[in-house]
Amino acid sequence: MKHTKVKDLLNSTKTIHEVTAKGWVRTFRNNQFIALNDGSTIHNIQCVVDFENTPETTLKRITTGAAISVTGELAESQGAGQKYEIQVKKLEILGDSDAEKFPMQPKKHSLEFLRENAHLRVRTNAFGAIMRVRSALSFAVHQYFQQKGFVYVNTPIITGSDAEGAGEMFQVSALPFDNTPRTEEGKVNYKEDFFGKQTNLTVSGQLEAETYAMALGQVYTFGPTFRAENSNTSRHLAEFWMIEPEVAFNDLAANMDLAEDFIKYVVKYAVDNCADDLKFLEGRLTEEEKQKPQAERSEMALLEKLQFVLENNFKRVSYTEAVDILRDSTPNKKKKFQYLIEEWGADLQSEHERFLVEKHFKCPVILFDYPAKIKAFYMRLNDNTEPGKETVRAMDILFPGIGEIVGGSQREERLDVLIEKMKALGIDEEELWWYLDTRRFGSAVHSGFGLGFERLVLFVTGMTNIRDVIPFPRTPMNAEF
Ligand code: ATP
Ligand code: MN
Repeated sequence: MKHTKVKDLLNSTKTIHEVTAKGWVRTFRNNQFIALNDGSTIHNIQCVVDFENTPETTLKRITTGAAISVTGELAESQGAGQKYEIQVKKLEILGDSDAEKFPMQPKKHSLEFLRENAHLRVRTNAFGAIMRVRSALSFAVHQYFQQKGFVYVNTPIITGSDAEGAGEMFQVSALPFDNTPRTEEGKVNYKEDFFGKQTNLTVSGQLEAETYAMALGQVYTFGPTFRAENSNTSRHLAEFWMIEPEVAFNDLAANMDLAEDFIKYVVKYAVDNCADDLKFLEGRLTEEEKQKPQAERSEMALLEKLQFVLENNFKRVSYTEAVDILRDSTPNKKKKFQYLIEEWGADLQSEHERFLVEKHFKCPVILFDYPAKIKAFYMRLNDNTEPGKETVRAMDILFPGIGEIVGGSQREERLDVLIEKMKALGIDEEELWWYLDTRRFGSAVHSGFGLGFERLVLFVTGMTNIRDVIPFPRTPMNAEF
């Protein structure tokens, strides 16, 4: 018999004479009540076993983690907590699970323990919820851009350009580690490598996406990105997913509008479509926050925080204003910041970003017009800036609890300015010949940004460590599974 998803059974509007459900046992109590979960929803369906007419050997095999199939009547439940339950007529054990050995016991496990069991943690309520929300968010990402007529572009994962400098790269090579072919000067001879040149895993699809925006108008990427960052933080992964829209004829203001509208759309999609999961995650977060001292607890519960983002404009603040605020701030004066803000031009650290968002403005913040010196070569130089105080049309979006969630800019569309900038930074023009062609042939104002998908999932789920919002995290010294 065809089985029905637990979610559909629980949403039924009537009793049904015979249904079949398949899933994994969460708990089995009093030799009678099975809580069955099949991943379609956070909720379990209660399956009532007629234990007097079920062989003892079968009852013993209904253990936490076992895969079973039950057939019976979908009846109104006598017990509290659920509208419907299955009164089991036929029960089949599909796959046993040794209760002594199954690591996901029906009790609270530490997140660290769950990370070590990333292949099984998705069988817990929290990780089931997180991964369903993640899936819904990624659908919303495509829906948003597709509805607006953006073209989805798959930029290469193996890249031959190493000029972008967004992060440390992982090298891709088919050369043998021992007996590596060398040039006469003793350097690795990449001419003998698979691609005949040195190649890396991509740190960003932006440069390639720009070439497509210059033909298709509005494009976006959504794919894996790799950075060999040795910073072991709760916000960085070595392998993460990035969304990078790139739009011809958009200036920086239009870029900010797009980013804000996009984030609000996907957050709203999750609020509207993942209510049960978010409610569960809100409870989880509230519990977790109780462990913290009062002063460190967030003022809003999860859903309230999401609603707040939907209802309020992101605060747009120039770098110069932000530096003034930081310089005069209490933690700066009392030397509480690890990196003190002394003068204009300083790079902002995550402690500064978090101060601005969490303490000063208390809402999402878009910082723009950064010093040219601390930003990438392709960002549009602002006209009329003082010598020594040049700024570029960059923007970063900072979120409470997360820090930077988006990094973007209006791109330098003037060939001569771009080449001069590359020269100053020692970036090889020859290597980026194809990128410069966009400026040689039909160049135009254009803008884009990169949003780290896991940071978005962190925000929406209220989780605090990025390792907990991607199925199998890749971080320094960790590539299990
Ligand atoms: P950060 O300062 O946090 O390291 P970044 O300035 O290196 O970020 P960008 O190069 O602008 O980030 O990348 C765009 C977006 O990608 C960031 O805003 C962030 O959301 C995300 N991101 C960057 N690095 C990582 C990483 N290692 N793991 C997960 N997400 C990342
Ligand atoms: Mn970084």
